[in-house]
Amino acid sequence: MSKMNYFPLPPEVAQIPLDDYTGVIAFSGGVESTATMAWAVARGEKVVAFNFALSLPEPPYGPIEVWLATQRINARLIAEKMGVPMMEIDLQMTNLGTIRNEAPTYKYSFQRWYISFFMGLLTIYNPHLKDLYYGLNSTDSSAIHADLRAALEQMIILMAGENKMRTPLMHMTKAEQWALIPDNVKPLVLTCSNNGCGGCFKCDERIEAGIPIE
Ligand SMILES: [Zn+2]
Repeated sequence: MSKMNYFPLPPEVAQIPLDDYTGVIAFSGGVESTATMAWAVARGEKVVAFNFALSLPEPPYGPIEVWLATQRINARLIAEKMGVPMMEIDLQMTNLGTIRNEAPTYKYSFQRWYISFFMGLLTIYNPHLKDLYYGLNSTDSSAIHADLRAALEQMIILMAGENKMRTPLMHMTKAEQWALIPDNVKPLVLTCSNNGCGGCFKCDERIEAGIPIE
C-alpha cells in the first residue's frame, strides 16, 4: 500500500486495504446502521465502516461521557462480530465546539455534513468504493424529506463526482430493521444515552417499534 497521508482520516485506515472493499457504512452502532451492516454482509458485500467518536475531556465523567464511551465500544464489538473493519473518526478535531445552538434551519445538521464529508473523502482515497451506505428508517427526517437527503448527496457528488449514497433500507420501519439484526448482536445495539431510561424520545422510538429498551 502506498504511503498516503490520510488526515483527517484516522491512522488505522492505512491498515485497511481499501482497494479490497466496494462499500462504506456510516456506522453509529444504532438500529439503522447495524441493520444496514447486517443487510450488506448478508449480501456478501465487501464493506468497511466508520464510526464518529468523541475523545473525552478530562474526568470526572458524567452520564453523557459514559454513554459516548459505551456507544463507541459497542460499535466496535458489533463490527467485529459481523467481520467488518471499522475506523473511528474523532469528531473532536472537527471543532464541534463551534456548533451553535441557534441552528439556522431544520436542514442544518452537522452530523449529516460530517457523514457525507467523510464518505466522500473515502472515495477520494479509493474511487473503487461505489456504495456509500447511510442507515435510515421510513420515519427518519432524511427519509421523508428528499431535500435533506439531497444535502448529503450534494457533498458526495462534489467529492466523488457522482452520487454514491445508498439508503437501501429507507422504506423499512425501525421494527423491520431490528428483525434483520442477528440475535447475538442485538444486545449491543444501544440507543438511549441514559441507561435505557424509558422516558426519552430515543426510548420512545424503540418502545413504539416493539424493540426492547436496553
Ligand atoms: Zn431513554
